[in-house]
Amino acid sequence: MGINGEYMNLDEYFAKQEKKDTYMVESQYCVGCGRCKMSCPENAIKKINGISFIQQDVCMGCGRCIEVCPHGAIVKTKA
Ligand code: SF4
Ligand code: SF4
Repeated sequence: MGINGEYMNLDEYFAKQEKKDTYMVESQYCVGCGRCKMSCPENAIKKINGISFIQQDVCMGCGRCIEVCPHGAIVKTKA
């Protein structure tokens, strides 16, 4: 049994614990296509007023969203 009584993939757990990078959407470049949201394994991305927004408390820093964004709207910063 893992955290909060749920089974959890250990790799994902440690990735979350050792997270070093922060991913953010630069709203001026986002066109709301939703590709980032569909790629996110944590369901960390929400759309607000047609623009994607990354919930930092949910994001585990895997970087998938930045790879799929066709507009370069997601940026990575070191924590
Ligand atoms: S993939 Fe890029 S352009 Fe599309 S919704 Fe996400 S941040 Fe916006
Ligand atoms: S870095 Fe990974 S977990 Fe975080 S928002 Fe992007 S796809 Fe989701």
